[in-house]
Amino acid sequence: MARHIFITGGVVSSLGKGLMAASLAALLQARGFKVRIRKFDPYLNVDPGTMSPYQHGEVYVTDDGAETDLDLGHYERFTGVSAHQGDNITSGRIYRDIIAKERRGDYLGATVQVIPHVTDAIKDFAQADTDDLDFVLCEIGGTVGDIEGLPFVEAMRQLRNELGREQSCFVHVTLVPYIAAAGELKTKPTQHSVRELTGLGIQPDVLLCRCERPLPDSERAKIALFCNVRREAVIPALDAPNIYHVPLQYHGEGLDAAVLHHFGIESADPDLTRWQDIADRYDHPEGEVTIGVVGKYVGLPDAYKSLNEALVHGGMANRVKVNIRWIDAEIFEQGDSEIAAALEPMHGILVPGGFGERGTEGKIAAVRFARERGVPFFGICLGMQMACVEGARSVGIAKAGSTEFGQTEEPVVGIITEWMSKDGLQKRAKGGDLGGTMRLGAYPASLSPNSHVAAIYGTEQISERHRHRYEVNVAYRDALEEGGLIFSGMSPDGLLPEIVERPEHPFFVGVQFHPELKSKPFDPHPLFSGFIGAALQQARLV
Ligand code: GLN
Repeated sequence: MARHIFITGGVVSSLGKGLMAASLAALLQARGFKVRIRKFDPYLNVDPGTMSPYQHGEVYVTDDGAETDLDLGHYERFTGVSAHQGDNITSGRIYRDIIAKERRGDYLGATVQVIPHVTDAIKDFAQADTDDLDFVLCEIGGTVGDIEGLPFVEAMRQLRNELGREQSCFVHVTLVPYIAAAGELKTKPTQHSVRELTGLGIQPDVLLCRCERPLPDSERAKIALFCNVRREAVIPALDAPNIYHVPLQYHGEGLDAAVLHHFGIESADPDLTRWQDIADRYDHPEGEVTIGVVGKYVGLPDAYKSLNEALVHGGMANRVKVNIRWIDAEIFEQGDSEIAAALEPMHGILVPGGFGERGTEGKIAAVRFARERGVPFFGICLGMQMACVEGARSVGIAKAGSTEFGQTEEPVVGIITEWMSKDGLQKRAKGGDLGGTMRLGAYPASLSPNSHVAAIYGTEQISERHRHRYEVNVAYRDALEEGGLIFSGMSPDGLLPEIVERPEHPFFVGVQFHPELKSKPFDPHPLFSGFIGAALQQARLV
């Protein structure tokens, strides 16, 4: 049976619990164990699909089409374990399911309560499909003491009671702040946070103490004493130079050793060559490129988390540093001089995914600049759709547009109401619910032999993750191809355009899916490696 590791956070939010969970899982994996990470989100949204990227960061999509918290992206990038629907749950989903059961009469008239009904649902979720695993790591979102988080903490407490100490471990992540006026690191917030947790019936087994300065031994001993934790299980976690160092650093501080000691497991040292190579590639680039990302949610880097990571991975593959310039597409609606000023210094231009009309004319202008100037271009989802609108306009279809932005005489991008998936024909109503009406998750695509993308992928059959409502209209294929924009990737039935490219251009690729979701530091996505490689060529030219 899988052992459970529960990860909670205290003192403040944004301590990097997700990264910590991902790093611990990676370290256990490097010792040969089979791991999976799950995220419990206490908020009442059913899933993050309808949450604003400004507030919540990107929505991470899994192969099986779940719209999940962006922490699942960290988990996948650090472990390579493909996440699925069953790895992310919210209070909203749990309550929705329980209320649906109650309405059906499934509870046979019983009073439906947080304990046992909600806590049982949480426990079932934590334990589902874990038979073939050595460890399942469960991260609870938010901070201990949050009202919404209480049922989750309670469910963990019950699980500990049921599974026993040998099968469960509590890791609590806290902050040890540095108070400049006193010149000291302060352990009191950690003590309070642990007291709060013990008040809820949970004694942590391992404490991960985030700190800006090295934690003196005396303070470590003090935390151990007051928090009732072994001294070796108080792990100081200094800010790392970058995220790729985190697994190495936490290993150096003894995190994985403390967890294994708790379970009484003896294990050989982990093989960390993968992480050493990644850190080395990041720390010692042999050149640099600058990429302009022309988007809408440029104010909040988390809105494009996976994209940001995938660009860095593309840099690692080429051993270069990638400087990312986030450019608000709306500034291009002012005129050509703004476009040239902003984009001339770029070695590559990327138009990412997005929703809604705002900024789209600016994105189209950026595509035109890239096409006319021969600058490497990569369009993702909405970026591909805008590349097709731009392509149509360039061959004289002046009114080319997308029905996402209202009525248009030339719907180069339009809504589809029926499409095939591996589960059969999918249908949706034109004005359906906002949540759950998109083409979501992994779909296969066939690439044209001899196309640029087939060469980049090294295969003609691919599978990539989708999250969109609109599609490029295949009725415009001939017109666009005559203008040099070739449909080089299609759905297997030939109806849905998946990839467009310009063979005459150094690198001009638009994809309907989100390749950034599958890129990993130790396995950079070929399209990102190819794009950064082309940007490097461009940097050598200018
Ligand atoms: N808004 C577009 C659509 O729904 C593109 C979505 C995206 O870029 N993820 O089709």
